[in-house]
Amino acid sequence: MRNPRPGAFSVLVRDLVHHPGEMREASFDVPADTRWGEGLVSVPAGEDVAVDVRLESVHEGILASGTARTRYTGECGRCLIAIDAPVEVEFQELFAYPGREANDFEVQDDHVDLETLVRDAIVLALPFQPVCRPDCPGLDPITGARLADEPDATPRPSVDPRWSALAGWASEPVEGENDSAPHADPDNEG
Ligand SMILES: [Zn+2]
Repeated sequence: MRNPRPGAFSVLVRDLVHHPGEMREASFDVPADTRWGEGLVSVPAGEDVAVDVRLESVHEGILASGTARTRYTGECGRCLIAIDAPVEVEFQELFAYPGREANDFEVQDDHVDLETLVRDAIVLALPFQPVCRPDCPGLDPITGARLADEPDATPRPSVDPRWSALAGWASEPVEGENDSAPHADPDNEG
């Protein structure tokens, strides 16, 4: 489905239409109108997206190629801490002149609308399993503490002998932590 009117990512290309061989570059910053992405990280609504695009007139339409840069936020898939990181993608698509064949991307009213193209490229580039850092050690399975916050995350073998009697307590599994029993559903008796 196409927007009924040009959106924020639309670029006027009237000067290029049916002038094969002509070329022009454009740059603009536009805020994402909605949240982009459905995973652990996404581009929040209102985040600026910087687009640099080269528009080339070819016989079939307008070839748009360029780069888009923005930031995504979310949480680390291992330790759940907040993540905020840049993402940059390249894109290229031919916006065809309207004709007998339906095209996903077409020149509409002397405009090319880059939004779907840019959004899809960025969403595809978002990490599926984001981490705050490549070697994020995750959470302590016992205490739930974020191991990266503790400089001595690896267990130290030597414990003050006066406390050795307590050492066993820490390794007791927390009840319910790994309980895989299905939840009782009040609507589903039996
Ligand atoms: Zn992490």
